[in-house]
Amino acid sequence: MKRTDVIVVGAGPAGLMLAGELRLGGVDVAVHDRLPAPAGESRALGFNRRAAESLDQRGLLSRLGEFRWGPMGHFGGVRFDLGMLDEDHSGVLGLSQARTEAALGGWLDDLGVPVRRSREVTGLRQTPDGVVVSFTGPDGPGEETARYVVGCDGAGSTVRGLAGVPTRVWEPTRGMFTAEITGAAPRPRPIGERLPGGRMVVCTPVGAGRCRIVVHDPDLPARPEPGALTFAQVADAWRRLTGESIDDADCQWLWACGNAAALAGEYRRGRVFLAGDAA
Ligand SMILES: Cc1cc2nc3c(=O)[nH]c(=O)nc-3n(C[C@H](O)[C@H](O)[C@H](O)COP(=O)(O)OP(=O)(O)OC[C@H]3O[C@@H](n4cnc5c(N)ncnc54)[C@H](O)[C@@H]3O)c2cc1C
Repeated sequence: MKRTDVIVVGAGPAGLMLAGELRLGGVDVAVHDRLPAPAGESRALGFNRRAAESLDQRGLLSRLGEFRWGPMGHFGGVRFDLGMLDEDHSGVLGLSQARTEAALGGWLDDLGVPVRRSREVTGLRQTPDGVVVSFTGPDGPGEETARYVVGCDGAGSTVRGLAGVPTRVWEPTRGMFTAEITGAAPRPRPIGERLPGGRMVVCTPVGAGRCRIVVHDPDLPARPEPGALTFAQVADAWRRLTGESIDDADCQWLWACGNAAALAGEYRRGRVFLAGDAA
C-alpha cells in the first residue's frame, strides 16, 4: 500500500495552500478531492491584507492576474474603511475564489504535489504510526496510508466526523439565496444594502458582465435546500425587496444556505488534523 507523509483531504484554498507549504518544508504530501475538477465558483471575492502578504511571501500574487487593491472591507454587511488606520491595510478585492484556487493549483503543479481528483475519502483508521485512508475513486475503492491526515474538506467535513471530533453546531435562524447572473444590470450594492425588517440585498459585480446577487430575508426558509432552489425564486425575492426585475437574466450559478455555524471542539485528534472551514 502506498505511504505518504501527509494526505490533505480537500483541494479548496485551505488544502491547496497547506499542501504547498508542507511541500516547501520537504514533506511528501498529496491532496485528495472528491470533485473531478475545481468547482469554478466565485465564492470568496478577495482576501485581507494578511492573506495577501502570505501569498506575496511565496511569490503567488503575480499568479492571480489582474485584481484591485482597496481599503474597504466588511463583516456581515458592516462596512469597514481600513484606510483610516495608520498603516496600509488594503486587501485584494473583486477576485473570484476560482482564480485564487487556479493560482494555488498551478503552484502545486510546479512544486510537484499531486492533486488526486474524483477521490472521495470515506474512511479513516488510525494506527500507532499512521492513518489508513479509504476512498472511492475512478478505479473503485482504494486505501492509502499516511503518517498524518489533514481534513481541509470544508464546513461539512467528512474527516471531522470520521475522526470523531465533537462539533458544536448553532442552528440556522434565517436563509439566504445567492445567484450569479449575466444579461441584467441591477444597481451595484457591493457590501450590501440593509432594508427594513432585517432584510438585506447585495449586488457585487464579479467581472465579465457578471454580478452576484444575494438576498437575505427572514421570510425565506432557514434551512433551504440548495438543490431545490430555482432562479425564479431568487428573481421573485429580488423584485419583492428591490423593485428591480432580473427575471430575464441568465443565471450561471445558484446557491442557498442558512446562517448555521459550527466549530470543531478539537483541531487535532491523534494523527488527524483539521484546517480551514472543516475546523
Ligand atoms: C455561495 C458561497 C459564497 C461564499 N462567499 C464568500 C465570500 O464572499 N467571502 C468569503 O470569505 N467566503 C465566502 N464563502 C466561503 C468560502 O468559499 C469558504 O470559506 C472557503 O471555500 C473555505 O475553504 P476551505 O479550503 O476550508 O474549504 P472548501 O473551499 O469548502 O474546500 C473543501 C474541498 O474538500 C472537498 N471535499 C469535501 N469532502 C470531501 C471528501 N470526503 N473527500 C475528498 N474531498 C472532499 C470538496 O470537494 C472541496 O473541494 C462562500 C461560500 C459559498 C458556498
